[in-house]
Amino acid sequence: MNPILNADLHCHSVVSDGTLTPEALAERASANGVELWALTDHDEIGGQARAAAAARKHQMRYLTGTEISVTFAGQTVHIVGLGFDADDLNLQNGLRQTRGGRGARAMEMSDGLAKVGIKGAYEGALKFVGNPELISRTHFARFLVESGVCRETNDVFRKYLTEGKPGFVPHRWAALKDAISWITGAGGLAIIAHPARYKFTPNEEFALFSEFKAHGGQGVEVVTGSHTVAEYGIYADMAREFGLAASRGSDFHSPDESHTELGTLPLLPSNLTPVWELLGSRVQ
Ligand code: AMP
Ligand code: MN
Ligand code: MN
Ligand code: MN
Repeated sequence: MNPILNADLHCHSVVSDGTLTPEALAERASANGVELWALTDHDEIGGQARAAAAARKHQMRYLTGTEISVTFAGQTVHIVGLGFDADDLNLQNGLRQTRGGRGARAMEMSDGLAKVGIKGAYEGALKFVGNPELISRTHFARFLVESGVCRETNDVFRKYLTEGKPGFVPHRWAALKDAISWITGAGGLAIIAHPARYKFTPNEEFALFSEFKAHGGQGVEVVTGSHTVAEYGIYADMAREFGLAASRGSDFHSPDESHTELGTLPLLPSNLTPVWELLGSRVQ
């Protein structure tokens, strides 16, 4: 496959915390000139068959995808998986386990918000949920915007849903090693999502990359909607230093909330190995 490709390998549908269906996302990606696409819902692969079928309809090539929530050094890290067999039972069980704690966490988040006078947040967030197993902070953020507590979802995260804020509940997600092995065991490629987003010290970041690599991780997102142009350069260097392939994805969630449209980011720097070069036989 062409090393220079309009690939968008990271986005979310109603099956997790996006607002569009897999079909609407495929149509949007195709309209924006995406040539290789992956739907990467959080901790969930229930939308994969629909996404692959919709991609076929638009003559876009497709890779199966997911974004797994992991706890590493006390922080949440996201690991994208691409090109796995979606029928793999071990992967399905791991994802189910990872989704498992979300209901109880959401009720605790709601209790925290009630203490600062925001009532009924659990029920309110549920109205925005497309998948009952996948209630996320994003759904709470949408409810708080709808009810006028904040003007936009970003403000909700800053004031209510991040560490130390009333609606934040510390949570233990999957172990890094497990998430990587679920993906690679199903024939896929594991990728560190938006590394610049984490608040790690340089030592912790080095540990993340080293352990990721030691457990069989093979890629890192370089060009993502979560990175600045300077950060593309920083993580292009990290990819080379650690011998990782590079990925590109908008992390698109919603036409109303996302500042990065599907398929519109700069292309990957040409002196990196794109993840799709390692995934040739898995492309549909
Ligand atoms: P959860 O998996 O329930 O912890 O929710 C995480 C999701 O919240 C991420 O995947 C993003 O979609 C969203 N998110 C996290 N931080 C922010 C932020 N500062 N502004 C808007 N959305 C955010
Ligand atoms: Mn999300
Ligand atoms: Mn993420
Ligand atoms: Mn994402």
